[in-house]
Amino acid sequence: MDKVGDVVIGVMQDLSRISTNGSARVRINQNLCDPDTFESLFNHFARGTILERIDLDVEHLKTLMSCGSCGHQQTVGGDHSGYQRCPQCGKFAEIQDHAYQLVEPDPAKAGLRKSIRF
Ligand SMILES: [Zn+2]
Repeated sequence: MDKVGDVVIGVMQDLSRISTNGSARVRINQNLCDPDTFESLFNHFARGTILERIDLDVEHLKTLMSCGSCGHQQTVGGDHSGYQRCPQCGKFAEIQDHAYQLVEPDPAKAGLRKSIRF
């Protein structure tokens, strides 16, 4: 699991690369920290940078087990080893445990930042 500080920096790097409209929404892993803590950390680190005025919304990102055999998906709580038996078909299924996910702007759709204005 990544450290909270590394994730804050990752989010900041993502947000400085792409165009935002003054706000952004991010999901952070529920095992990392609570959204309020993350938001105040972000605001702390963003002070004095081009991201200072971004209104950041933070939600929890659920850890998801996704079975490659039958397609079954379910959320996973707490610690895990990266794989878990699928309750549907009994095969080993991969657990997708991302540290964070940028929801808005969608990095796949947003253009690259062209100016430092928001
Ligand atoms: Zn399955």
